[in-house]
Amino acid sequence: MSEYFRNIKTGASTIATGMGITLQHFFNAVKRKGDAGVDDADYFRQVDGLVTLQYPREAIPTPAHGRYRLENNIDDCIGCSQCERACPISCITIETIKVTADDLGVCGKTSGGQQKKFWLPVFDIDTAKCMTCGLCTVVCPTECLIHSPVSDFSEFDRENLVYHFGNLTRLETEAKKRKLQEQQAQAAKDKAAAPPKPAPSVRPSVEKTESAEGGDSGRIKGEQTEEQ
Ligand code: SF4
Ligand code: SF4
Repeated sequence: MSEYFRNIKTGASTIATGMGITLQHFFNAVKRKGDAGVDDADYFRQVDGLVTLQYPREAIPTPAHGRYRLENNIDDCIGCSQCERACPISCITIETIKVTADDLGVCGKTSGGQQKKFWLPVFDIDTAKCMTCGLCTVVCPTECLIHSPVSDFSEFDRENLVYHFGNLTRLETEAKKRKLQEQQAQAAKDKAAAPPKPAPSVRPSVEKTESAEGGDSGRIKGEQTEEQ
């Protein structure tokens, strides 16, 4: 019988302990939790306060070194397409047009001083597909393709998750393509009209023959030897 009452007492005290903790959190929840981000030393000390954030007015700051949305600084992109080839799920679509010789100055150089040789009418990244593996960023020779700390970029329309970084308008693209085709056609015409190059003078070739002793000796092809 005494054990029966002891169990009741234990049950009542454990319920009281649990309810005490619940009440403690209830009264602490009248104030907002701190807004220190995960980079902040106080982040794990913010145990009291409301846990629920009033998103999107409130959000936990992301770390400055976070690797989230992929972005391209197109001014530094040389159109090498290495990122496109490296992506295992084909998130990146690139189209390039070769820059004509008279446009090299207009196309300019990267911040590292490298001459850009391709226009980029299309440089699209489908961030809805991207799994932020980073394979494309490590192969980029100019380091213009990076994962930015921007983590909140949800959209209602999936099409809006395809980011366009191309540096030509549709009209500019047509003009650059036409110009390149005209120059290539002119170059082909000039090549066809050019007089044939004189045939290179024939030089006697030196033939290696093996001597009776096993050593090598050179003999000019077509020359008569004394033995013959
Ligand atoms: S991070 Fe990975 S998945 Fe995303 S575009 Fe680059 S290679 Fe493709
Ligand atoms: S690897 Fe870098 S430089 Fe090359 S196309 Fe991609 S973003 Fe541009």
